[in-house]
Amino acid sequence: MLNQVADGVWVRQSGWVWSNAIAVRGESGLILVDPGIDGSDLNELADDLDQLGIPVVAGFSTHPHWDHLLWHTRFGDVPRHATPACAQVANGARERAQAMAAESASGIPLELVALVTPLPADGGPVPGEIIEHQAHAVGHAAILVAGRGVLLAGDMLSDVLIPLLDPRQSDQVGAYETALDRLGEAARHVDVVVPGHGAVAKGPEVAARLAADRAYIDALRRGGESADARLGQDWISGIHQSNVEQAGRSTG
Ligand SMILES: [Zn+2]
Repeated sequence: MLNQVADGVWVRQSGWVWSNAIAVRGESGLILVDPGIDGSDLNELADDLDQLGIPVVAGFSTHPHWDHLLWHTRFGDVPRHATPACAQVANGARERAQAMAAESASGIPLELVALVTPLPADGGPVPGEIIEHQAHAVGHAAILVAGRGVLLAGDMLSDVLIPLLDPRQSDQVGAYETALDRLGEAARHVDVVVPGHGAVAKGPEVAARLAADRAYIDALRRGGESADARLGQDWISGIHQSNVEQAGRSTG
């Protein structure tokens, strides 16, 4: 079911880790952001979009993790965009993303995984402002649609997943600090935040999400000054992994 969360912004949530597929109305039609997850989700999303009656003109992936790189033929053969850095990583890791998709959920059209191209510098069909940062994944993008009071946050500001540091990049604590500063600035213009996973935040909940992630990163910063920061990172990745697994099982 599509829930309208702002003017021209609809969200459909999957049972798989509460993943949010988002449809945003642009000038010429809908832009689908991170559509997912399993085959029946994608089919039902296509049904919902048929009912909405607005054509899909483009896709957008917020970052190069498999659960944000999915598509279905029923959405149409339209350009699928990402930041240039995200597109480069996604294209290079396509086989791995396909394998993870196959392992994690059923019915995903594997031949369509990760077929993303760099977003034109002017933003192309995507309305609003792209906020690119390096927290969680290379080339991660949030989309600020200030005119409609909504921020699409990708895998940031979730109420069900803690901040997950990218083990392939150095100084993720610093990257998170920078990203949260920028998202905090963006959030001043909105009253709705749609995370990649979890509940849509509205009103005062927006500031609470920022504060929770900031507190977590602050704690890592303090912990990182102690002898074994690396251990902390492994511990965090482990926790995240078990969150994902538990969520997958309990909603399965
Ligand atoms: Zn995700």
